[in-house]
Amino acid sequence: MKKKFETEAIRTQTERSQFLEHSTPMYVTSSFVFEDAEDMRASFNEEKERNIYSRYSNPNTNEFIEKVCKMEGAEAGFAFASGMAAVFSTFAALLNAGDHVVSARNVFGSTHSLFTNFLPKWNITSDYFEINDVASIEELIQPSTKIIYAESPTNPGVDILDLEELNKIAKKHQLILIIDNCFASPYLQQPIQFGADLVIHSGTKLMDGQGRVLAGITVGSADLIDKIYRFSRITGPALSPFNAWVISKSLETLAVRVDRHCENALLLAEFLEKHPKVNWVKYPFLKSHPMYEIAKKQMKAGGTVVAFEISGGLEAGRQFFDAIKLLSLSANLGDTRSIVTHPASTTHSKLTVQEREAVNITDGMVRVSVGLEHIDDIIQDINQALGV
Ligand SMILES: *Cc1c(COP(=O)(O)O)cnc(C)c1O
Repeated sequence: MKKKFETEAIRTQTERSQFLEHSTPMYVTSSFVFEDAEDMRASFNEEKERNIYSRYSNPNTNEFIEKVCKMEGAEAGFAFASGMAAVFSTFAALLNAGDHVVSARNVFGSTHSLFTNFLPKWNITSDYFEINDVASIEELIQPSTKIIYAESPTNPGVDILDLEELNKIAKKHQLILIIDNCFASPYLQQPIQFGADLVIHSGTKLMDGQGRVLAGITVGSADLIDKIYRFSRITGPALSPFNAWVISKSLETLAVRVDRHCENALLLAEFLEKHPKVNWVKYPFLKSHPMYEIAKKQMKAGGTVVAFEISGGLEAGRQFFDAIKLLSLSANLGDTRSIVTHPASTTHSKLTVQEREAVNITDGMVRVSVGLEHIDDIIQDINQALGV
């Protein structure tokens, strides 16, 4: 019988060794030994499924992949050293020179930079659609288009895209739909249910959730993952066994952590909505969010990130960040520790002012990744930093 999410996250486990350990051990080894000449030949010829070399596979990375596949309802996956390694390797494995990608304009800063500054080196081009105009994708599709790419919720503006709409367009034009599901985590949203072919995560965020390791993963249909695997086992972006062990353990507590993250984030969002020094607040599960209904349909809760704008622009923003005492000024998110970020001067500083304006990143915009400290302390710190 198919077990529930929480149970799979805890009970999906690599085979025990002869020591019958309860917690999965670490297989910190670069390679694995063969029994004999025949075993060596058959293993290398892929006549049997087994670990050969940790660039290809390893019991700890396998366990991590299996868990995420169960959580996302995916057939297969490959684990990477970082979220960006997952993004880059997925594109590099699936695209040829001359191919074209249609992506949401609002994507993670490094992903945007990959499309704009690096993929063109291999003659892979891209066009962006506006997140509030998904229908415009059809005008951007060319004969060479292979992939539609989007995030929901988006970083840092927590905008929501209608995954079913995206899927309709992708299916109609026989394109591969790839969703970066990092902001939701597999606990809140499973894009494959809505038709996505591949789902990408930065495991660095909610999956580890404790600010320790970088990790990434792509999961989805077995035939696409096979192409990604073929590319990756040669080029070497694999996740390390140690980091895989850490993150696989983290997934055991994903559901309870994310529940509390979302509870705290909603309380903070509601507080900020009433604050006189705040121009606007965006959080997917606030009724004022323009895509509230779609968020409710796609997600179990609103996620860990709240975006808001301080009145008074850049100078008021600077004062706010200098006044923060408890929360961390950092670029990560989805961590137990609440983090405040200024997207315009950090994650999205490589974009031009025009590019930032196009994705609604204003000078006074603050992104809060709401952590697991007591909500009263989180609100107290933000309130005092707003200067009341
Ligand atoms: C952080 C992030 C990435 C990149 O992940 P890394 O692990 O930092 O390489 C990709 N997409 C989104 C939405 C992210 O937030």
